[in-house]
Amino acid sequence: MRYEYCPKCGKKLIQKQAGDDGLVPYCEDCEKYWFDSFGSCVIIMVTRKNNDGTEVLLLRQKYMSDEYMNFVSGYITVGENAEESAYREVLEETGIKLDSLEYSGTWFFELQELLMHGFIGYTSQSEFTLSSEVDGAQWVPLEKLEDYMYPDSPGNAQFGTYQVYLQRYGR
Ligand SMILES: [Zn+2]
Repeated sequence: MRYEYCPKCGKKLIQKQAGDDGLVPYCEDCEKYWFDSFGSCVIIMVTRKNNDGTEVLLLRQKYMSDEYMNFVSGYITVGENAEESAYREVLEETGIKLDSLEYSGTWFFELQELLMHGFIGYTSQSEFTLSSEVDGAQWVPLEKLEDYMYPDSPGNAQFGTYQVYLQRYGR
């Protein structure tokens, strides 16, 4: 989001040179630059080993898609780091406690102006308890994952994280 008015005092912002960053919206009253802002989210590929291999937890969330299933995701809240946010979102949405977490990278989702922080999460827990935001969930074998996920596209952190997983660990 590009600011036109000061979020603090409401004054119309002017364009002012900000060093190497060029012209940036500026509030003359608050003496503050207002750089473009965007949301920060985490998205977590929750994985679990069983006797046959690796399974991944996919969520059915009708407000997002009727057709495709999603990894756990959510907004980072103020004061939290991305790792804390990832553990919290997985616990809140699924009741699953992750044993560990590993960063997969970041993706910028242009459509909603969100910087997505991707993670691969590990758990030994198979039972889940879904929050009211989630309409359903299932463990899907790694080999079948692509049948359920939105296909690869620019800024698609879910597919990106899945690809990172394959690069690191194969099937
Ligand atoms: Zn102001």
